Amino acid sequence: MVSEPALHRVYLGLGSNLGNRAANLRLARHSLPEKGVKVLAASPLYQTAPWGGVKQPDFLNQVLLGETKLKPLALLDTVKELEREAGRTPSVFWGPRVLDIDILLYDELTFGSERLTIPHREMKKRAFVLAPLLDIAPGLVLPGGDTAAACYARLPEQEKAGVVLYAEVLSDN
Ligand code: AMP
Repeated sequence: MVSEPALHRVYLGLGSNLGNRAANLRLARHSLPEKGVKVLAASPLYQTAPWGGVKQPDFLNQVLLGETKLKPLALLDTVKELEREAGRTPSVFWGPRVLDIDILLYDELTFGSERLTIPHREMKKRAFVLAPLLDIAPGLVLPGGDTAAACYARLPEQEKAGVVLYAEVLSDN
């Protein structure tokens, strides 16, 4: 008997700062199910001042909880394909982007390879990840035992102040 592949819970961090930013995030939410990632929860949208010293528009950020049978590297291929379909072209590091999708967490997995690190390397330091993540998973414990709430509380005030609520996603249209 062939057993069914297991279902995995994944948190994805989305960002966009080019074109119609909210529409780019909506496209991602709507396209994920047909690519094998069912969206179970979506955070509000946050507006974030850009990182890294490149002059560019503010980002909109959002975190999704998804459920998938895809293995980690197949999930990475899938989100990269979605970024390309949204019209993202290679850009400078920290540069503007139509759609960026990061795999933040995959079950309780800790994984490291050349192409993929889970949990996402920077997630504990970024208010634009932790603020929306806490909206949909307030009690979340990260691999290693740290809580998302404790990570957020440790961030500098300036980092937290740069991430402001932009819009609730009340119905997914
Ligand atoms: P980015 O510019 O944010 O799209 O990411 C650049 C590269 O980071 C990707 O092409 C991935 O190979 C790599 N990467 C490593 N870990 C992750 C992760 N957890 N989620 C998404 N990309 C990752």
